[in-house]
Formats: sequence, structure tokens, C-alpha cells
Amino acid sequence: MNPPDTDTAPDRVLVVGAGPVGLSAALGLRAHGLPVTVLEADPEDRERPGSRALFVHRETLRLLDGMRPGLAAEFASYGRTWHTRRTLYRGREVYSRTFPEQPKAPAATPPFTSLRQVDTERFLRAACRDAGVEFAWGVRVTGVRSSPTGVTLTDSGGGVWHGTHVVAADGARSAVRAELGITMDGTRSEGFHVVVDVADIPGAELPLERVFHYEHPGVGGRSVMRVPFTGGFQVDLQCRDDDPLEAYGTEEAVRDWLPAVLEAPGYGNQILWVSTYRFLRKVADAFTDRHRRVLLVGEAAHLFPPFGARGMNSGIADAAAAAEAIAAVARTGLVGAVAEFAEVRHAAAVFNSAAAGNALDHLRPRRRIVRAKQRAAAALAPVLPWCGSWLEHAPYGPRNGAPAVAGRTY
Ligand SMILES: Cc1cc2nc3c(=O)[nH]c(=O)nc-3n(C[C@H](O)[C@H](O)[C@H](O)COP(=O)(O)OP(=O)(O)OC[C@H]3O[C@@H](n4cnc5c(N)ncnc54)[C@H](O)[C@@H]3O)c2cc1C
Repeated sequence: MNPPDTDTAPDRVLVVGAGPVGLSAALGLRAHGLPVTVLEADPEDRERPGSRALFVHRETLRLLDGMRPGLAAEFASYGRTWHTRRTLYRGREVYSRTFPEQPKAPAATPPFTSLRQVDTERFLRAACRDAGVEFAWGVRVTGVRSSPTGVTLTDSGGGVWHGTHVVAADGARSAVRAELGITMDGTRSEGFHVVVDVADIPGAELPLERVFHYEHPGVGGRSVMRVPFTGGFQVDLQCRDDDPLEAYGTEEAVRDWLPAVLEAPGYGNQILWVSTYRFLRKVADAFTDRHRRVLLVGEAAHLFPPFGARGMNSGIADAAAAAEAIAAVARTGLVGAVAEFAEVRHAAAVFNSAAAGNALDHLRPRRRIVRAKQRAAAALAPVLPWCGSWLEHAPYGPRNGAPAVAGRTY
């Protein structure tokens, strides 16, 4: 698609980035009847590796369904919802709960659904196309000029793009954020995690349950989580600060430790993807520019550790709020709605960051007392069920969203 220098739609909004958050923003803007072009640096036929964000919360499904009725049902019928959650400590079960399955009313939204991010993006792209979103693939935005009346973007090929507003959904290394001079403060954890996607073995699938295992004896006392998705499951191994990456983070290394973690034969040959990551916790200083024409959303605005599933879910909440604010400006001409978006979503990000910090203190304890509390809770869990419940819930942080946000969404 050529740059729309002679664009006939004076109210066009530009979205930078076709990740899950940019696609949701585009869909939200179309739901308000605004013309939208998504500018994406990658080509249309790109392959995004790995499962990445799996867990889609009910609040997120509802937001997406509000943008495109029927989308939540599409996600839910493809994704997996488990009803059993288990926690083990050094090989011994300390918590197990199976929730009753909800009646399968066709319109009922499940409490969550789990699918690979690549599948989430596939559904969102199709919904965007149906809704009339325009895409410009292979366009890398390099320049941003904002004014009281609109925004002009330039790309690496010399293209020039005009919009009334820009939704910056260009991810953790956001060029739009950098161009505006907005900084992002926060922390980075020492040790790394290894994340592995494993395909199901047809006919020998593991039980449909989410399992967290503290100090797993099969991997020298490192903690491990297993989360199902459609077609397989994700395994997350928490390494120690001084673990060498080659010992745990390569495909060869995974082949060595995976059988001990799964306690089921044959999965060494089912590995789909191996990656390593460190916990980053950062929030941008501002979510909009001084003219209130550029709105930062998703990882362009904040980075959270994946435990608690606040990354993509809160990014989609940002996207819905950004679309709402731009539509309000289009209706009323008053830019206050964007300032409010920036304030509310910044507050939500600070809340989410603190919640992720709580989870982190539990997952990677810096103080001996935390590990001692976990050991004591595991010992007492058979007689004091709340101890098992604490061990089950603590790795994900508080379960609610920011108090300042409508419906307390993420
Ligand atoms: C291992 C792992 C597990 C995770 N698990 C979860 C989870 O369980 N739940 C959860 O909620 N989150 C999870 N996350 C986080 C989740 O993947 C991210 O939050 C999500 O991808 C962020 O989406 P986004 O659209 O903001 O950014 P991205 O997905 O990074 O998309 C940004 C897009 O912008 C494009 N782009 C970049 N620069 C430019 C430019 N200059 N011009 C044009 N286009 C550009 C990129 O090509 C990309 O398509 C996980 C992440 C990882 C790595």
C-alpha cells in the first residue's frame, strides 16, 4: 500500500505495529467507525515464533467481543480452558483444585482461554480485515512529528503518513516512544527463565491442568510451571542467577532436563520452540505526547514479567481505552479524553508493575525468610489448606486489576 498523501479520509488514525495490541487498537477504532491504517515493519507473511502470551482473561475476551461481536466465542472455541490447578513442592502435592465446568451455554464467556499468541494474532488479523482495517506491511516507522492538529510519520523507505492520531503499539523497543523522547524506567532481574513449547503426543496427551512445581527435584530444585495451550503446552523453567545459559537454555539442554520434569516418555522429540528471557519491569514516563495526538499502548508503554499474564491482557485494555479516547475526540473535538486515557492507563501500568513485583518477590526471593515461609507453608499445607492456597496463588501476584480502572480490568 502506498503512503496516503492524498488520503480522502481526513479522520484517519494510524496504528504502528501489528502485534496483538496494535491489532486490537485497530479493531477498536473500526468499531467506532474511524478509518484506520496499520503500519507494520515486518512483511505480511512473517512467522512469529513461539507461544508467548497464552492466557487470555475473561475481561480481555469481553473487550474484544465489544469490538467485534462473536470474537470471544471464536477465541474460546479454539483455545483451551482447564479446570484443574495443582501446586507441588519438592515432589509433593500441596494444592489441587478442580473447578466445576460451566454449562456450555453458547454465549457464555469462559473465565479464560489459552492459545498461542500466533493464533490470537491470526484471529485478530482476520477480524481486522473483515472490519475494514487497512494494512501497510513492510513499513518501518522512523520519524514522528506531532502538532496540535495531527501527526505525520515518516518511514525508512521515505514514505510520509498523516493521521489525526497515532496509536503506538510498536513493542518494547518502540521507535515512536524514542522519537518522542519518552523514557521508560524500571528493573531487570538477574537470573533467566527458559520457556519451551512442547507439542502434544496424539493419544497420550498430558492431563489438562496448570501445574506449578516449587523446587522440582528432577531439575536440581529449580521451579517449573506447565501451562496447556491448543495443540501442546508451555514449560517454564526458572534458572538460578549463576546458571550458565548453555546448561539449561539450548534445545540440546532442554532435551536433557525435560523428561525429568514431565515424568512422561517421548516428549524430548516434541519440542517446538526454546527461548530464554529475563524479567523486565518498566513503565513509560508518559503515555501521550504534549499535543495529545500519540497514544502509547502495550509493550511500547510498559513491560511486565509474564507470570500473572498482565502483558498482553493489559495491552489490549490499553488498546480499547485508546480507541475510546480517540473516538471521543473525533466526536467532541476536546482533547481531554486522551489526557484521561494517558492518566488512567499509566495508573493501571503502575499497579500492574507493582503486582508483578509482588509475584517476583515470591518467585525469585531475595530474602531467606521468603523461602523459609514457602518451606513452612508446604509442610503445613496438609493440615492448613490456606497454606497450600497461598503457595498456589502467590507466583502470579494479586488477581485483580487497578482500582482506578473501570471494571478493575488490567
Ligand atoms: C515467553 C513469553 C511469554 C509471555 N507470556 C505472556 C502471557 O502468558 N500473558 C500475557 O499477557 N503476556 C505474555 N507475554 C507478553 C506478550 O508476548 C507481550 O505482552 C505482547 O507481545 C505485547 O504485544 P504488543 O502488541 O504490545 O507488542 P509486540 O507483540 O512486540 O508487537 C509490536 C509490533 O510492532 C512492530 N514494530 C516494531 N517496531 C516498528 C516500527 N518502527 N514500525 C512499524 N512496526 C514496528 C513489530 O514488528 C511487531 O509486530 C509473554 C512474552 C514472552 C516473551
